[in-house]
Amino acid sequence: MRTLISQGYGARSRNGIHDLLDFETARTVAEHLSNTHEALAEGKGVSGPAARRLIQAAAQEHHRFSGMITSTRQARNLLADPALNVFENKESYLFCNYDQAKALCHPGRGGKNEALSLDRCHNKCANIARTDGQARQMKDAADSLREQAEASLVPEPLADRLRRKAEALTALAERHHANRITADQDQLMP
Ligand code: SF4
Repeated sequence: MRTLISQGYGARSRNGIHDLLDFETARTVAEHLSNTHEALAEGKGVSGPAARRLIQAAAQEHHRFSGMITSTRQARNLLADPALNVFENKESYLFCNYDQAKALCHPGRGGKNEALSLDRCHNKCANIARTDGQARQMKDAADSLREQAEASLVPEPLADRLRRKAEALTALAERHHANRITADQDQLMP
């Protein structure tokens, strides 16, 4: 079911199993945006080209749904609002603030294919935003990779790959901290 949901992100079918998938998708979106709203209220920050859109989506979701999707109707309303089409990409430690016109992950950009492909997520996409929490996860993952690389039985080529991946994650986390904005800073921006 979870695989289907992730593959179905962005789909807009409206009956049977699709209603159920939409419901679960909308519930997950609302939960993530609500958690982001809470983190922002505590002074945490977000970074990335879509950082300001994520801040606004979190505020709007909180205002309209408070993180609670309890009916198919609410799920449809949430998914019908392009500003709230925010999906987590756990593998890449980011939120996709989906805007089809900006998406780099599917060949149908600007065409009929409106579905995003989280498994083809492109690190230069303008729909990307990251939270402090995701930056912390990247640092934790980098630490874990370095530990694996130092284990005595790991062959050197593999250890090198693990270290390179750790460095890449650390660099992304540092870039996040250098560029992050808070909700208060967002309000002061033009
Ligand atoms: S490339 Fe990634 S961030 Fe951009 S639209 Fe596709 S899934 Fe979303």
